[in-house]
Amino acid sequence: LSRYHSDFQEIEQIGIGNFSRVFKVLKRIDGCLYAVKHCTRHLQQDAERRKALMEVQALAALGSHENVVGYYSSWFENEHLYIQMELCDHSLSNYKCSRLSTEEVLEALHQVAKALHFIHGRGIAHLDVKPDNIYVKNGIYKLGDFGCATLLDSSLPIEEGDARYMPQEILNEKYDHLDKVDIFSLGATIYELIRASPFPESRTQVSNLREGKIPLLPGHSLQLQNLLKLMVDPDPFRRPSAKELVENPIFDSKQTFAKNKAFL
Ligand code: ATP
Ligand code: MG
Ligand code: MG
Repeated sequence: LSRYHSDFQEIEQIGIGNFSRVFKVLKRIDGCLYAVKHCTRHLQQDAERRKALMEVQALAALGSHENVVGYYSSWFENEHLYIQMELCDHSLSNYKCSRLSTEEVLEALHQVAKALHFIHGRGIAHLDVKPDNIYVKNGIYKLGDFGCATLLDSSLPIEEGDARYMPQEILNEKYDHLDKVDIFSLGATIYELIRASPFPESRTQVSNLREGKIPLLPGHSLQLQNLLKLMVDPDPFRRPSAKELVENPIFDSKQTFAKNKAFL
C-alpha cells in the first residue's frame, strides 16, 4: 500500500531534478496543498541512505523560519524517500535575465541572507545555493533543497552542489569555512539574476566570478556592486558572514515593497 497515494491526490509535477521529481499535491485528510519531493534514486545502500536522510534531518533540525521552505514530514516507500513540504509558487530561476531593479535585488539578497544567518546559526551549511533552489511564495523568498546540506564543523567529506556556483576553495578541496561557501554561492546567484544571460549549463565551464572577473552592473548602485564583489571574493575571510550581510546598512533604506509587488 502506498502512503503517497493513500494520503495525497497528485495534482501536477512542478519540478524535476537529476534524482527527484516534485509534485503539487492535495492532502486528503486536511484538504490543503503541499509539495511532495519524490527522490527517485534507490536507497538500498546504507551510505546512500544516510546521505539522502541529511536532507530531511537538516530540515527537521532547523525548525521553521520565514525564509526557509517549510517541512512537514518524510517517509520511505519502496526504497524511495518522500518529503512533504510547504508549497511555493516557483523558483528564483524564473527571474533570470528579467532586469530586476536594485530594490528588487536587495529584497531577494536580504531575505536569503536571513535564511543563511538562521541556518549557519544552527550549525548547518547549505552548499547548493543557486536560483533553482530559492523558491518564492507570495513575494517571500525561501531557501530550499537541502540535499547537499552538512554540519558546519563536520569533518565528513562534503557533497557540494552545482559547480557553477562554487568558489575556488571547493574546487581545490581546500576549505575550512563552509558558511563562506554559501556566501559566495549567494553572491554568484545574485550576479546571475542581474546579468543579461544565464550561466552556461556546463559543469566544467569555470565561472568568471571565481577568478575575480566581476562584471559591471549598469543601472545598479555602486554600494550593491561593492557588496556583491566582497561576497565573491576569492579569500573566504574577506567575504561577509551572513550576520554581517543581514545587518549591512545597504538594507536600511530598502523599501518594503516586496509583499505587494505585482511581478512576484
Ligand atoms: P536532485 O538534486 O535530485 O537533482 P533537486 O534536489 O534539485 O533534485 P529540488 O531542488 O528540491 O530537487 O526540486 C526541484 C525543483 O522543484 C526546484 O528547483 C523547484 O523549482 C521545484 N520545487 C521543489 N520544492 C518545491 C516547493 N516546496 N514548492 C514549489 N516548488 C518546488
Ligand atoms: Mg535543486
Ligand atoms: Mg538537490
